[in-house]
Amino acid sequence: MSDLEGFRRETRAWLEANCPPSRRRLRDGEVAPAWGTKELDEEVERWKKLICDKGWSAPSWPREYAGGGLSNEESRVLAQEMARLGCVPPVGGFGMYLLGPVLLEFGNDDQKRRFLPDIVHGRVNWCQGYSEPGAGSDLAGLQVRAELDGDEYVINGQKIWTTSAHLADWIFCLVRTDFDAAKHDGISFILFDMKSPGVSVSPIQLISGASDFCQVFFDDVRAKAENLVGDKNGGWTIAKRLLQHERSGLSGMMGGGASGSKRAKGGKRRVPAFRGMADAAEPYLGRDEHGRLADSHLRDEIVQLEMDGICFGLTMKRSGEAAKAGQGPGHSVSMAKYFASESNKRRQELMVSIMGNRSLGWEGEGFSRAELDQTRAWLRSKGNSIEGGTSEIQLNVIAKRVLGLPD
Ligand SMILES: Cc1cc2nc3c(=O)[nH]c(=O)nc-3n(C[C@H](O)[C@H](O)[C@H](O)COP(=O)(O)OP(=O)(O)OC[C@H]3O[C@@H](n4cnc5c(N)ncnc54)[C@H](O)[C@@H]3O)c2cc1C
Repeated sequence: MSDLEGFRRETRAWLEANCPPSRRRLRDGEVAPAWGTKELDEEVERWKKLICDKGWSAPSWPREYAGGGLSNEESRVLAQEMARLGCVPPVGGFGMYLLGPVLLEFGNDDQKRRFLPDIVHGRVNWCQGYSEPGAGSDLAGLQVRAELDGDEYVINGQKIWTTSAHLADWIFCLVRTDFDAAKHDGISFILFDMKSPGVSVSPIQLISGASDFCQVFFDDVRAKAENLVGDKNGGWTIAKRLLQHERSGLSGMMGGGASGSKRAKGGKRRVPAFRGMADAAEPYLGRDEHGRLADSHLRDEIVQLEMDGICFGLTMKRSGEAAKAGQGPGHSVSMAKYFASESNKRRQELMVSIMGNRSLGWEGEGFSRAELDQTRAWLRSKGNSIEGGTSEIQLNVIAKRVLGLPD
């Protein structure tokens, strides 16, 4: 037996023995446990501690920073085994997926030792201070000012659309440290505590009543100079790298991880994923005498979309393997981000066409849970082509950085 097969066997046994049912994704017909009970909270915490202590929340990060120290192949095996059992990753968020990778690449040893273990253990929630009222797509035009005073920077200005800032402990923030240099050359990347005096957070009320986004104001906030990552005025390189990780992650979440097939109910046979959408459409469209969805136009659109999804899933799988083999995400990740955002919007629009006014419910007993979820999924998909850089900006990146077209 090869080392890798041995590792797989041990990993499978460990996950089966330790991952509680409440931390596994529901399978067909299963009912979610009631959340918020003391027993369940304790069970989740116990599992989180067990897996984080092994470093398996960040399997490929070095052991000296509390990661798992696994090789790329071992990390892939762990991911496969977790997916097989439906284990939900124990830790996620901006720290794990965005800040951690850039700290590993650009942070100094002291910064890695101070910040990475808390990310691995999910002890600190991070938020992303990039966008400003006048600097979204034109991110390099940002105006939040940081001036050195002794061994601290004094920060003034405003960020906006900062997801979950009201829940965050720390922020990674783009600030301008040189107002005379060309706009890309005067930016720094700095970390500070959201409880610092002078930080105020104002959640933005959305039409849905939720408030995931915030405006964040800095009024003479003092951040330690030792928490500036990379070189002073060298933050744009880090900012772009982090966006590549963000775009790669968003693409995966919007369907890049789809393998194009799923396990059939109660059996081992695997069925193409488009059966999933066809099944969802059946109650609304009905079937013709051949057993096909009755509306030939919508049937055609479902197949087209799902074929695209399968191709995209395979492309993402290939590029994920290339990334794990040591080549991090590059500019080409903009193609994935663009495709995933636009096709998820198409998918959600198609569900609205299929379901008609059944997909427009907001609350109340006249709609099923799945129908109410569908309304929210449709509305949420509109943000896909804005977050992490709009679709137009992805097209600009592809034109300039991938195809090499002139500015
Ligand atoms: C769900 C979600 C979560 C977000 N979370 C965060 C977060 O945590 N932290 C954070 O900092 N930001 C966050 N954002 C903000 C996001 O990064 C910005 O909204 C985005 O970069 C666009 O900037 P803007 O809103 O200022 O739009 P603008 O830049 O004003 O753009 C307006 C329109 O003009 C177009 N446009 C602008 N410039 C060009 C150009 N050069 N070529 C072609 N078209 C152009 C855009 O494509 C867009 O359609 C989030 C946004 C969303 C939707």
